[in-house]
Amino acid sequence: MTILVRLIYASKVAPNFGPMDMRDILQKSRHNNIESGITGLLVMSDGYFFQALEGDRMAVHTTYAKIMRDARHSRSVVLSASEIEKRHFTDWSMGYVLSTEKNRPLFMSYSADKYFEPLSMRAQAAESLLVEIGQHARQIGGTESLT
Ligand code: FAD
Repeated sequence: MTILVRLIYASKVAPNFGPMDMRDILQKSRHNNIESGITGLLVMSDGYFFQALEGDRMAVHTTYAKIMRDARHSRSVVLSASEIEKRHFTDWSMGYVLSTEKNRPLFMSYSADKYFEPLSMRAQAAESLLVEIGQHARQIGGTESLT
């Protein structure tokens, strides 16, 4: 039996991370996630990654286990992992959003500090922020593809 889940985590971007790394991650993610029925959204802001993975429980946890071992980031923290009724990101094998001037207010509306710091976010806030970021990206014409 397949069980639909959503896992949200945050992590710190590696110091030597560059645009080519992002391109590689998105290419690989989109290929792998289509194969395993995973959808989601990856956000990069203020030196942090912030990602939602949705799909079959086994597929999501297997993918997260691979992501956790990846040297292109560190200090990965699961903010939320729960069974869900439906997906939020059905249209994206892996959408990608970078924080910019346009979406900055969204990030800051969930921030106590002047910098966005997702590692200690509460589960509900993390999910709401990702949904809002996704909606904003759709309104302005889809997520940045970098591929
Ligand atoms: P291969 O591509 O054959 O890779 C084998 C090993 O080499 C893996 O351990 C991989 O981590 C490592 N590796 C490959 N290229 C590099 C590189 N340039 N630098 C350092 N190590 C490298 N993968 C997904 O499938 N879905 C996702 O949604 C997803 N999201 C990610 C989000 C973030 C923030 C990061 C950092 C990575 C993400 N990845 C994702 C990539 C994931 O960590 C693995 O690299 C990928 O899943 C491995 O794919 P593969 O099993 O086909 O192995």
